[in-house]
This record gives sequence, structure tokens and C-alpha cells, in this order.
Amino acid sequence: MIVILKHDHNPDQLDSLVAWLQEKGIAIHTSIGEANTILGLVGDTSKLDIDLIAALDIVEDVKRVQEPYKNANRKFHPEDTVIQVGNTQIGGGNLTIMAGPCSVESEEQVVAIAKAVKASGATMLRGGAFKPRTSPYAFQGLGAEGLEFLKAAREETGLPIVTELMDVTQLPLFRDVDIIQIGARNMQNFDLLKAVGHQDKPVMIKRGMSATYEEWLMSAEYVMAGGNEKVILCERGIRTFESYTRNTLDLSAIPVLRKLTHLPIIVDPSHATGKYWLVEPLAMGAVATGADGLQIEVHNDPAHALCDGPQSLKPEAFDPLARKLLALHAAVRSMEGQA
Ligand code: PEP
Ligand code: MN
Repeated sequence: MIVILKHDHNPDQLDSLVAWLQEKGIAIHTSIGEANTILGLVGDTSKLDIDLIAALDIVEDVKRVQEPYKNANRKFHPEDTVIQVGNTQIGGGNLTIMAGPCSVESEEQVVAIAKAVKASGATMLRGGAFKPRTSPYAFQGLGAEGLEFLKAAREETGLPIVTELMDVTQLPLFRDVDIIQIGARNMQNFDLLKAVGHQDKPVMIKRGMSATYEEWLMSAEYVMAGGNEKVILCERGIRTFESYTRNTLDLSAIPVLRKLTHLPIIVDPSHATGKYWLVEPLAMGAVATGADGLQIEVHNDPAHALCDGPQSLKPEAFDPLARKLLALHAAVRSMEGQA
């Protein structure tokens, strides 16, 4: 349920309304926007008398929210969420470019790639230390040592680091990363979602391979229900009957999520296609469709990469792409009259 307050609402009356709702076990999420202040009510609102609340002096309108996701719902929070990470912001009209190798392979490798992608305009370094691999015989990542190499690359470049958490037991090691990634395979690992909901680092949730928008938003809701509102969604392609590409990039996700939620939306054209030459057209498509950012795999030697070489761009191919993406983003923004 959402309660829209009148502009000139009396703060004392608001305090008594909030206290009354809290006594009934309802959690309240307040969103102060330019147009209105909205109270988002989470909990069992079925017994609340909607007419009674609507009749209060300070209340403009009351609406039931049918969707099962509440904190993630745009009805609860009409303005876009903007997440501050280091010196950059995700959402709010910025284009975030996360780039780096699928797996951290050595300190030299990740530092060299970090320097290259930063020079091209990337705003974050993305690299995997703990890797969810389909085969138990494939390289599983460098683990804790890989996290140290990512931190060394951050030290050298200033780029915030984004890396995947696979298991709750690894969480203490992630205290010093900037964004925790939850991979597609773990999108419905509810214990993991609860754990990252109880800490305060931003969390990027990749879409499960066969997840609907609602299931994906419910995963965001798990994190937000724990008190962590810094959630980012990442579309990375879904499983369809098409086998030419690794997955099928669902560009509809961007405008649909923009309508359903206030959370920032990142697109990963690398895992979506599995082919380096498809990364550019789909990354451009994502920016044209309104994505808040991209996650792109970049490797200095894709032919010898320990993971996902075929979809990785060399730094010399990433460079013109990053520039095109920034130019396209500026053009899209100016067409929207927001630049
Ligand atoms: C990754 O980002 O490295 C990854 C494994 O992606 P996904 O979870 O989307 O498959
Ligand atoms: Mn990868």
C-alpha cells in the first residue's frame, strides 16, 4: 500500500500516523520526491482500513500495490535510485562502464587491463575472483588472492571494483570490495540474498537465465527487505531456443524495468552473446534503450584467457567502443532534453 501525503502535511499528524502503523507491525519506507512525499507500507496491510487512512487530513491518496515487490517498486519510490560508489554515481543519468577480465588471472594482468580500460573511459573495474563455472574441471578463479589483485588494481587506478560473491562464507573477504555481484546462477540463492541485504555495500543482481522480471525483482526485494537499498539490476541475456548466441539479450528489460522499478539497470552484452563481435552492436542498443551502464569483458590476450576468451574484447577494441558509448549516451540524453 502507498500513502501519498498532501504537500502541506502537518508533521505531528504524520508522526502519529507512522506510530499507529508501526504499532500494527507495518514497516514504512518514506520517499520524499519533488512532487510528493510517499509512504510505502510493507507488511500485512490487508487489515488496514484504506478509507480510514484516506480520510486523514494529511493524506492526498491511498493505493494498494498489487505487485509482490514493494521496496523495489517504482510506486514506492517514484524517483530513480542513484547509487554513489567512490567518486562515481550509478543511475541518475550517468553512464557507468564496468570493464575487465572475466577472471582475474594475475596481478600484472588485472592491473594492465584496469589501466587500459580506465584510459578508455571505464568507470569501474569488473573481474572475477570466485568463478561459477559450468564444469568442475574448469579454472575456478584465484579466490581470495584474486580479490587482493583487484584491490591492487584499484590502488593503481582509483577504479572501484565489482566482483562476484558465490557463497555466504566468503562475505568477510568482500568487506573491501565496492560492489558485490550476485551471478545469474545465484539469483535465487535466497540465503545469499539475505546475507547481502544485511550489509551495506551495493549489490548488483544479474538476471537468472530463465527468470521473469517479477522473479528478478523479488530477488532485489530480498536484499532490500534486509535494509540494503543499494541494489543494481544487470540484464545478461536469457536462455531461449536460439543456440547461435550464448544467450538472448532481452533489451525489453530496460524499458520494462524502468517502468516497474526505480533501481539502476546495467546491461552485460558479453555474457548475453558469447561473441566478441556482438558486444559492440548490443552495447549500443542497450545505451539507446536507456540502460544506466554496461558490463563488458576485456582481456589483454583473449586467445589465452582462462575463462570467456571468445566474448572478450581486446583493450584496443574496447577503447573506440567506450568512446562511442559515451557519445551515444550524450546524444540520447540530449534528445530526452535532459542533458
Ligand atoms: C560473470 O559476470 O562473470 C558471470 C559468470 O556472469 P553470469 O552470472 O551473468 O553468467
Ligand atoms: Mn565471464
